[in-house]
Amino acid sequence: MENSRLSVQGRIFNIQRYSIHDGPGIRTIVFLKGCPLRCRWCCNPESQKYDTETMVTAGKTETVGRDVTVEDVISEVEKDRVYYLRSGGGMTLSGGEFTVQPEFSLALLSEAHDRALNTAVETCGFAASEVFEKLLPYIDTVMLDIKHTDSEKHRLYTGRDNTVIKENAVLLAKKARKLIIRTPVIPTFNDTREEIGKIAEFTASLGTVSELHLLPYHRIGSDKYAGLGREYMMKDIKVPEKEKMEELLSVVNAAGLKGQIGG
Ligand code: SF4
Repeated sequence: MENSRLSVQGRIFNIQRYSIHDGPGIRTIVFLKGCPLRCRWCCNPESQKYDTETMVTAGKTETVGRDVTVEDVISEVEKDRVYYLRSGGGMTLSGGEFTVQPEFSLALLSEAHDRALNTAVETCGFAASEVFEKLLPYIDTVMLDIKHTDSEKHRLYTGRDNTVIKENAVLLAKKARKLIIRTPVIPTFNDTREEIGKIAEFTASLGTVSELHLLPYHRIGSDKYAGLGREYMMKDIKVPEKEKMEELLSVVNAAGLKGQIGG
């Protein structure tokens, strides 16, 4: 019987092999186009719009975004199956935001699942709960960002408040096979003991989550903003010192969670 799932189309802007920072083991990352947030520090600003767009990189104009089928993506992912087996790795959907393309994500994740490929997703959590409910059976690890506990500050820096995200965190804590909370540590936004303490407290309150990863702000990708004709609003922000990250890590660990710096 023909597998119709393989012909489902989606829009991506990159596939990256041999990643070790986006879920367990060695992984292939599929970067989907489209995100409902506009985080000021986003290192993949070319992911945000669903539409294809042009970006100037090192003087060359490139088109960002291409339409592919599940079959196209899976055949690329399958190339590294031997590494996944040895390392416990697999495929991670990133972006952008995978829930922006629910049909494509469902077809891709279920196809991977049927092939016994480990699956993970990186999500901002801003989606209808029904979308998560539908996709969860095919996901081994969910990595969910909790960026700030204050809704207004969240809205100011990301374009959306955090109500839906916190509600989905509760849902994911109940229903995901494994949930990891991740917090990008952004100076002037959330890099205080108090705010990281609140995020740790929220994470611990979920009951089933033991890991909170702190991802230090970095400037990789900042030059893409000029290439897209957009302003980079974080140009005066410095990356956090190692000591600062260790101090914040101690706050996470004091909340009874397994903290780590980096993904
Ligand atoms: S949620 Fe992620 S992909 Fe979306 S704008 Fe924020 S940093 Fe970028």
